[in-house]
Amino acid sequence: MAWDFSTDPAFQEKLDWVGRFCREKVEPLDYVFPHAVRWRDPAVKAYVRELQQEVKDQGLWAIFLGEELGGPGFGQLKLGLLNEVIGRYAGAPSMFGAAAPDTGNIEILAAYGTEEQKRRWLGPLLNQDMFSAFSMTEPQGGSDPNLFKTRAMRDGDEWVINGEKWFTSAGRVADLLFVMCTNGMFVVPRDTPGVEIMPEPRTHNHIIYRDVRVPLDHLLGPENGAKVLAQRRLGGGRIHHAMRTIAQCKLAFDMMCERALSRQSHGTIIAGHQMVQEKIAESYAAITMLRLFVLETAWKIDQTSTLEARTDIAAVKFTMARVLREVSYNALHILGSLGTTDLTPIQAMYASAPVMGIADGVDEVHKATVARRVLRDYRPHDGYWPTEYIPAKREEARRRLRPVLEARPDLARAAGPAYPGEPQGLRLAVLTDHLGLGHRDGDAEGAQDVPPGRHHPGTAHDRGDGDHDPLNVLGGQTAFLDGGGAGEVGDGRRVYGDQGGQPREHVFARRQGIVVH
Ligand SMILES: Cc1cc2nc3c(=O)[nH]c(=O)nc-3n(C[C@H](O)[C@H](O)[C@H](O)COP(=O)(O)OP(=O)(O)OC[C@H]3O[C@@H](n4cnc5c(N)ncnc54)[C@H](O)[C@@H]3O)c2cc1C
Repeated sequence: MAWDFSTDPAFQEKLDWVGRFCREKVEPLDYVFPHAVRWRDPAVKAYVRELQQEVKDQGLWAIFLGEELGGPGFGQLKLGLLNEVIGRYAGAPSMFGAAAPDTGNIEILAAYGTEEQKRRWLGPLLNQDMFSAFSMTEPQGGSDPNLFKTRAMRDGDEWVINGEKWFTSAGRVADLLFVMCTNGMFVVPRDTPGVEIMPEPRTHNHIIYRDVRVPLDHLLGPENGAKVLAQRRLGGGRIHHAMRTIAQCKLAFDMMCERALSRQSHGTIIAGHQMVQEKIAESYAAITMLRLFVLETAWKIDQTSTLEARTDIAAVKFTMARVLREVSYNALHILGSLGTTDLTPIQAMYASAPVMGIADGVDEVHKATVARRVLRDYRPHDGYWPTEYIPAKREEARRRLRPVLEARPDLARAAGPAYPGEPQGLRLAVLTDHLGLGHRDGDAEGAQDVPPGRHHPGTAHDRGDGDHDPLNVLGGQTAFLDGGGAGEVGDGRRVYGDQGGQPREHVFARRQGIVVH
């Protein structure tokens, strides 16, 4: 039985080590030397290297990279379990060599780079001797890559890049810029002449590429292949964000529970009030659902690829933003005035929820992707009624069972009439009632009205006169009851007539435009 929700003991030991390491060594560093891996001070750098060596000694360095790409090959599921521990601490992903945007850039470099490109850039990036940024979004539009204009023109043995990029995270401090052009992905050293970084925004940079010249071998992957590379990069990035978001949600949850048990109001601890309990319970369930969804998606990637798991990755992407928004809001609210300040992490966490719904693609685009891909597995139903239309299902069930029922009268008796509790003569009325259609009148047994309000012109009648009478008319769809007996009509095209005690089935063609009253 492979369906198992437990972590294997050997890896759990690693995770326990990671938890202790982060609490004891990474968290203090976050408060004293924020963004420690980026400090140039040799003393800080040396200390960071010492800590990173501990991670390497555990075999946990850069575990996002698959074996086929030269990484340790732990897979996304184990990475997910690791990320839900380290995602709680701002500096931990870099301490484990698993921080965006480098992870995504490393992944496409490892997957598409030539041996020379890997030699030149992959090692230094993996070892954090270099840092990189990803330059895709443009000022005139981010969600739709067809609006991007940045282009590289070939000129002799160089590419000349012209364009403008917006929101290149950490571009200012990157050594390498991975620039998505309309005709390919290019690796551009930041200090190349023509790379102009605008003063604002400070962190997510606006960059003008003006006649930026790079050698031909700075094209990464095939010419015109930028969208494929970007998709690969972003697919992995999105699931990694989601893994770390679980950790953030859990942190918010821990804070809300601790506070709910620590404060008093109106004669009880806050946790004694039902509306607080509701927030705790809802948050608990939301985090648990998100966690299972993320881990299952990570597992699917391991079984297939980020491309094949695209539907789930997109669904996880907008779900994590929503869960973070709900849980951090609940936590902020339960912390009261304190929650609204920057004296705890909760306010920043709440502010980051909309960011998670925009970065790496806005929620709407991911929702549209999910719906489009999911709908590929469905087909429209025939005729007016959905597959699960109960009268038709019931009729079909009776048809399938007929040989059994005919062979076994006792079973037929036990099955009873088609509509339990209805004498046979009322079956047509039941039909029209179901459809919200008309009434039945003038048959041998007398008029049978449907409930008030259901009878309106242009609908169904059984005149019960033994002719082929239009029975069920809806928007031009017509069925006939053949014969004098009452019948059962499913989707308006099939009728069972009851003739001389013998059930008969008639399948009628649809006739358009007939309105009978
Ligand atoms: C924190 C952060 C870091 C980022 N880092 C990087 C980075 O390193 N490199 C990089 O290149 N980019 C980066 N981005 C940019 C990010 O990729 C874009 O913000 C994102 O793709 C959306 O583009 P946009 O901001 O231009 O919004 P727009 O495309 O203008 O969309 C704005 C709004 O329009 C609506 N909308 C747009 N399209 C649709 C649609 N198809 N259906 C329905 N509604 C729609 C939505 O409401 C959407 O929120 C980052 C963004 C953030 C927030």
